Amino acid sequence: SDSHFPVPVSPDEFDLSQHYPAYFPADKAGDGEEAAPPRRIRFADVGCGFGGLLVGLSPLFPDTLMIGMELRDKVTEYVKERILALRASNPGQYDNISVVRTNSMKYIPNYFRKAQLTKMFFLFPDPHFKEKNHRRRVISMQLLDEYAYVMEVGGIIYTITDVEELGDWMRSCLEKHPLFEALPEEEIKADPVVKLLSTATEESQKVARNGGQTFHAIFRRISLQEE
Ligand code: SAM
Repeated sequence: SDSHFPVPVSPDEFDLSQHYPAYFPADKAGDGEEAAPPRRIRFADVGCGFGGLLVGLSPLFPDTLMIGMELRDKVTEYVKERILALRASNPGQYDNISVVRTNSMKYIPNYFRKAQLTKMFFLFPDPHFKEKNHRRRVISMQLLDEYAYVMEVGGIIYTITDVEELGDWMRSCLEKHPLFEALPEEEIKADPVVKLLSTATEESQKVARNGGQTFHAIFRRISLQEE
């Protein structure tokens, strides 16, 4: 059940200082300097599992705040501890990553404002094979509406799976959605993040060890005339 964790009623209530204390020092008042605009989370790793992607991304984008969203309590606690340990042994690093226990299928708009995110990641999501369980998949036309809302125009959504049928499903949802367009192959090749999709997470490493194939769909959030 997911009724036992707190969910912010709106993004304004989502307290980032607890997640990224280095970016939100407690005593900022009174020095007369113009306050910098508040920093926002830009990347979301949905169903982050044990957090390997966040750990891989952190040094590549050292000034970008990123969050993992994970439903399982113990796994979330593990990721929290992992990040705290990395911060402790690498002072000044890994301050930009954190994790929250939540059900991403229900609460994305509670955490992020319109056009806030520049990257969203869906790496090796649960396949939910049976037709009647397809509504539980983390990529669907309805959920893509929500993801489009919280993503900035130009932002990129990355998906990868070792389940061919799910890969086809995610790609076809993205192709059908008017607010997403496939990233051209040259851009995929040039994007340093793409390599992490199949190497950085615990699930990707398991698939690689077993010699499994992977299927990715990488799409850009585009704008419509009316927006
Ligand atoms: N992305 C990670 C990786 O590549 O190693 C984990 C992949 S694992 C197969 C899928 C993860 O999604 C699990 O950790 C699961 O608990 C999480 N998950 C499933 N449904 C979720 C939901 N509604 N909200 C947040 N996390 C969810």
